[in-house]
Amino acid sequence: MEKLKLAVYWASSCGGCDIAIVELGERLLELAQVADIVFWPAAMDFKYTDVEAMPDKHIDVTLFNGGIRTDEDAHIAHLLRTKTKVLVAFGSCAMEGCIPGLSNIKGPDHALQGAAWTSPSVDNGAQVLQQGHFAMPEGDLTLPVLSKQLRTLSQVVPVEYSIPGCPPHHDQIWKAMTAVIENKLPEVGSLLGVDDRTVCDQCPREREGKIRVDRFVRPHEIIPDPEICFLEQGLICAGPATHAGCGALCIHAEMPCRGCYGPPAGVVDQGAAMLDAIVAGFEGESDADIRQVLSTIVDPVGTLYRFSLGASVLHQIKMGLAESGQVCDSQRNGEDAS
Ligand code: SF4
Ligand code: SF4
Ligand code: SF4
Repeated sequence: MEKLKLAVYWASSCGGCDIAIVELGERLLELAQVADIVFWPAAMDFKYTDVEAMPDKHIDVTLFNGGIRTDEDAHIAHLLRTKTKVLVAFGSCAMEGCIPGLSNIKGPDHALQGAAWTSPSVDNGAQVLQQGHFAMPEGDLTLPVLSKQLRTLSQVVPVEYSIPGCPPHHDQIWKAMTAVIENKLPEVGSLLGVDDRTVCDQCPREREGKIRVDRFVRPHEIIPDPEICFLEQGLICAGPATHAGCGALCIHAEMPCRGCYGPPAGVVDQGAAMLDAIVAGFEGESDADIRQVLSTIVDPVGTLYRFSLGASVLHQIKMGLAESGQVCDSQRNGEDAS
């Protein structure tokens, strides 16, 4: 039987998703029996020209991690789309923007200036900023140009499947790879490597359905009861609005769920669903009292949309879809990063 051709790519990524694949451990040897890796820049020395030289649809499956932050990310997303039969948004960054997607609130100029000027470890008194293109006596330098908004992979090219998680759990990656190997992939558009329902359904803590606190707290502020639901003790836990699949990893480590597996089936906006779940816990309280308790959530957008702002329907409406893809002002040089 002909071996599968597998590719792995990182766009604007922390590298954790590539590590998660390495965590397959000995199962990588099993994978190597049935699949050849034809492109994986994080692990092996491939060049973009290698991919450009491939015939269209040459790659059977590409696991694409990282968000679309730069013109280079967008270019490779289009290139791999052309060369791949089954394109998978792998991990939270590619699927829904993840932590880097939070920079969509203040935009790339703010992020770039923070990194280049105001970071305590930077000495840049002349306030020089990285430019997309820069003419030097030795020749032209070309660097990736940031786009106005970090986009998810499916906002740039069509994808067949998504595997959630920051990063996806290696057991779930193997489950997804087994479906590929055995040619048992579900309907196009499905999530791979998830369990049914929500993190709450895999959580052993007792839940009464009622939040009895007058303010929300952060994990360092209290020692929570180990048997009782975090949310009901005033710790924001995204379990009700998060797809099951990790086995409630954080809960078993005595930490609330942050929401990295994305929204459960049927939910399009995870932050809105989380807010809905919190408000439901105050059923019977007055609107004014509920608003007062909600006002004690520190960094509500960063908390409720920690992983999903890039895919948030509400955020896209607020920002105006037409804006996404334009070049960051600090690097403006006449090029569009779409
Ligand atoms: S999903 Fe998480 S682990 Fe994967 S690249 Fe993004 S930040 Fe890193
Ligand atoms: S909200 Fe969190 S702590 Fe409470 S039941 Fe759900 S997962 Fe468990
Ligand atoms: S418990 Fe929540 S934040 Fe932790 S790994 Fe699971 S989905 Fe991600």
